[in-house]
Amino acid sequence: MKSSPEWKTLSDDQKAIIASHQAKLPVAVGAIAKDLGLIILKSTMPGSISGEIRETEGVVTIKVNRHDVKERQRFTIAHEIAHFLLHRERLASGITDDVLYRSRLSDDLEREANRLAADIIMPASLIEQELLAHSALKLDERYKKVAELAQVSLAAIKIRTGKK
Ligand SMILES: [Zn+2]
Repeated sequence: MKSSPEWKTLSDDQKAIIASHQAKLPVAVGAIAKDLGLIILKSTMPGSISGEIRETEGVVTIKVNRHDVKERQRFTIAHEIAHFLLHRERLASGITDDVLYRSRLSDDLEREANRLAADIIMPASLIEQELLAHSALKLDERYKKVAELAQVSLAAIKIRTGKK
């Protein structure tokens, strides 16, 4: 499990802010957003939408679909943080992500955001450490346990560890 190419493009300050909230699982994605100066609003949105990010007069606001399960809301916040860090110049007209994290941006840009979101919410060292710590469990149970600890979906952990 390695950091994404996108992670390597972040400034030292940005990496330090994120790392300061990655000492243990679950990673405090809300606190990362706050430290980056972003506002998070839990909003009533159509079921087909996971979230959006928009910059208005220098203020960057993330909206998260309040009806999604907690794990999904957490990944959405990480995904929108990634758009802020990687695609800042595109936020003025807003980016709205559907349930598959597709938007008016290209699939390539969406993949960048998903890779960085995974680095933020599932830091490789912590995930590897917890998988090791629970090596007495059956494989499926291990993934379930680590997904619970990280407060992400089982699918997210499997993708992160290359098992899916
Ligand atoms: Zn997106």
